[in-house]
Formats: sequence, structure tokens, C-alpha cells
Amino acid sequence: MKSKPLKLTHVKCCVCQSDDATPVGVGEDYEYHTSADTFLAVQCAACGLVYLNPRPDISGFEWIYPPTYHAFDFSEKDFGIVYKIRARLEAKRLLSWCKDLPIDARILDVGCGDGFHLNLLKKYGKETWTLEGVDLDKRAVEMAEKLGLKVHLGTPETINLPKDSFDLAFMVQTIEHVEQPSEILAAIKNALKRGGKLIIVTDNTDSLDFRFFKGGYWGGYHFPRHWNLFNQNALARLAENVGFEVADLTTQVSPVNWVYSIHNALVDWHAPRFLINRFTLKSTVSLSAFTSLDILLQKLGKGALLRVILRKS
Ligand SMILES: [Zn+2]
Repeated sequence: MKSKPLKLTHVKCCVCQSDDATPVGVGEDYEYHTSADTFLAVQCAACGLVYLNPRPDISGFEWIYPPTYHAFDFSEKDFGIVYKIRARLEAKRLLSWCKDLPIDARILDVGCGDGFHLNLLKKYGKETWTLEGVDLDKRAVEMAEKLGLKVHLGTPETINLPKDSFDLAFMVQTIEHVEQPSEILAAIKNALKRGGKLIIVTDNTDSLDFRFFKGGYWGGYHFPRHWNLFNQNALARLAENVGFEVADLTTQVSPVNWVYSIHNALVDWHAPRFLINRFTLKSTVSLSAFTSLDILLQKLGKGALLRVILRKS
């Protein structure tokens, strides 16, 4: 794909509104090559949030998410065994989040992409649950609708979700993409019932993969699409600023940032294509090797992803 210069905008830390931050990493779009620009990740001195600064203006949205973007079409046809394994694992996780829900529960997937998670709940969850999704990208919404899912086009702040009506909302690898995390959380809180839960899964900057690759190749940067990257402290502070109660904050296993960090280094070093292809979302050998490693790290509290359970009290 040919690239164009993006319109960039300067931002402050979205957790504490400070702009006292130091550079931690520099890199480019190693995965989709949507822009020839180099991007800078900085870390807030006050809360530890890592954020892209400057970052693309929202007007560049369609450009930085090309039609081939994986979250828009993660299918069994294209991803084979990786899809099957991930689907089984994610279904198990989702059902564990839903185990205490009432029979008539209403569930919202924020940043639902092509409907991967909602479709798993439709398949393995209770028939009596009401499932809804929301996504900003119309291509993603079209994919989800093809699966027969009810998906709103927009963001929780803009679509007027009914107040006090959802039992559970989740954002799986979404918060790092959004422009105003606190506004989205406030809108979700408003839509949750009292006692309702919001579960957020996102990249963990207090991890070994971040420490190794933070200079630029770290997969979690996903340059220039991940705008805010959290450690436990920054994520808890963000949630508390919005008035959520943090019920549980832990880490979760994922091989993806390990695999992509190596992928990005190989791309930058102009390694041969066959070698780069060993480190993608389709490479079962590297995905399983790094899953094993991350299982060990997760046991030490340093898994590649953060998972927080927030409650509206
Ligand atoms: Zn901060």
C-alpha cells in the first residue's frame, strides 16, 4: 500500500492530564505500512502511562486501519488452527466472566470488531442473554451483522446507550485504540446497572516483552494504532477517576506481543520474507512457544496482557 503523511496531534496523559513525559520508544508501522512516518511513544512521569505523542488525528482513522486489518476479519478460513485454538480459549474466558449473570442478562462488547467475541457467546452462552456490540468502523459492523449480531456503529459516548441497563460490558484489546479512554469508560458506566461489571483486557507495559522491546519493536505499540498503553497503576487510576471500583486486577497470557516484537525487528532488519512469516498471527510454532513462556510469566504476575474487572457501585 502506498503511504501518505498523517496529520498528527499533540496530547497529554489521559489519566492525570500531565505532560511531563519521557520518550521510551520510536518505531513505524511495521505490520501494515500505512504511513512512512516514524512515531514516538512517551511515558508519563506521574502515572506510568505509555502513550503515542504526537498521534494521528482522528481524521486519519480509515487510513491507519486498512481493509486488510485483522480485527475486521479474523476468520477460520484465513487463520485455520490458530482461529480454532484462540476461539476455544477465548470462549472459556468469556464464559468465566459470565458465570454469575442472570438468565436475562444484557451484555455489551465495546470495540467488538468483526463480532468474534459476541459470536462465541452466541454459540456457547445462554440463549436468553441479549448480546450487543459497538464499533466505530463500518466495515467491522458489516462483518458482525453478517453473523446475525446486533451492533451499533459509533462509540459508547455517541450512540446514547440506555442508562442502567447492562449487566456486563467488556473491552477486549480496545481501550488502547481509543481517543478518550475516560469518556468511553464514563459512558459505559452510565449504561451499566448498579453492580454491573466492566472487564478490560489490554497490553501490559509492566511485562518482560515490553522491557525487552520497548525501544521500538514492541508489538504492543502497534504503531500508530495503539494510543494509550497501561501498567496496573495507570489502569486502576483511570478507572477510579471515572468512579469505578476495581474488583480485580491481574495479568493474562498472550503470545502476540512477543511474536510481533520479533516480527517488527525482522522487518526493520530487512530479513528474508520466509523468516518474517515465522512470526505472524498465522505462525503456530512461534505462537505456541511464546504461549508457554508467557504462562510462566503470568504465574509471576507478569503476563503480556492486563485484565481488570471494574464494578459500578
Ligand atoms: Zn499520567
